[in-house]
Amino acid sequence: MAYLNDHYLKLKAGYLFPEIGRRVKAFGDANPDAAKRIIRCGIGDVTEPLPEAVRTAMHRAIDEMGTREGFHGYGPEQGYEWLRHAIAEHDFRARGLEVADDEVFVSDGSKCDCGNILDILGGDNRIAITDPVYPVYVDTNVMAGHTGDADASGAYGGITYLRCSAENGFVAAPPAEVVDVIYLCFPNNPTGAVATREQLTAWVEYALRHRSLILFDAAYEAYISDPSLPRSIYEIPGAREVAIEFRSFSKNGGFTGTRCACIVVPKTLLASTRSGEQLPLHPLWARRHTTKFNGVSYPVQRGAEALYTPEGKAQVAALIAHYMGNAAILRDAATAIGLRVYGGVNAPYIWCSTPAGLTSWEMFDRMLGEANVVITPGSGFGSAGEGYFRISAFNSRANAEEVARRIKAIAW
Ligand SMILES: *Cc1c(COP(=O)(O)O)cnc(C)c1O
Repeated sequence: MAYLNDHYLKLKAGYLFPEIGRRVKAFGDANPDAAKRIIRCGIGDVTEPLPEAVRTAMHRAIDEMGTREGFHGYGPEQGYEWLRHAIAEHDFRARGLEVADDEVFVSDGSKCDCGNILDILGGDNRIAITDPVYPVYVDTNVMAGHTGDADASGAYGGITYLRCSAENGFVAAPPAEVVDVIYLCFPNNPTGAVATREQLTAWVEYALRHRSLILFDAAYEAYISDPSLPRSIYEIPGAREVAIEFRSFSKNGGFTGTRCACIVVPKTLLASTRSGEQLPLHPLWARRHTTKFNGVSYPVQRGAEALYTPEGKAQVAALIAHYMGNAAILRDAATAIGLRVYGGVNAPYIWCSTPAGLTSWEMFDRMLGEANVVITPGSGFGSAGEGYFRISAFNSRANAEEVARRIKAIAW
């Protein structure tokens, strides 16, 4: 008899995005004319074309692949040295942060990395996760058997939830109790909050004190324009002893459909064996990555490398400026109708309180029904998200302006 992984049965049936899809379809079927006007500000996917520098590099790489001399078969699983070097050099060393080329592991996405990292961590770690949160952190821990069952509110036994609210500016402080692994994401999806240097320092000090591991998701670091805000956890002294950083080209270079990301595993980062010995995680991750992964395709890595050329950097800056221009328009509209508005300044997500005591899903239905705009209900990211909704700035300028007009036209 073959046994399945029982832990999968604990998962709440992919509630958020399927439910959004179901409601949008039901609305469209009942209102075919309004359906044509629907603007999606829901899923966090980029909308603007791939930068020219990337396309040029990828075209060239594909042409190379068509020649005997330029053909590339399997590359190094951890990524080509030139890409690992470009990442370490431009994203870290140029900013005075110590990251060696071989501490960077290139992958096909941060989502995969977030799940895969659990392969090299023990099963008994006490996991801390913010609420609201990017659902991948939770679900991958459920799949790995690190949790109990979900309760009526969707909270899983065995996870320490760190409540994020307007009171703490949606940045959780370290808990009083000891946790072993902590997921942090700044700029945050879904709240758009960004931790200050002091707030991140408190986390690094906590992790140093308790020998905890911080899994730091920096997928949106490129959206930080305030120079006082840390863009990498390694800006905090001691972080090389306690943190793994996840980076992605999805949201800066528009690679959501192209697929390339990386993680940084410092060689100075140790974790404990069952017998209490402190060993580095780097060789474990290298072993996992080279055993279970066969590398990102050559043209895609050349495309990612091109993001670090002067043209590539300028084109990324233009993309960020475009999305942040949308964010400002959407923030203004939400503010104009009297909502409490968070995020959208150093992050492409705007996190708003619902008006007139509506639940997140009631707000979703009103926005869909009256404005024909799809937003994301905050409760889909965790129970602390109830009473909020997320608007994504990933859109064309025309759509962002139209969404702003429609929000303001409704009598809330
Ligand atoms: C979009 C996103 C990522 C990037 O995922 P990829 O798999 O690299 O596309 C990572 N973390 C968060 C929180 C995100 O929203």
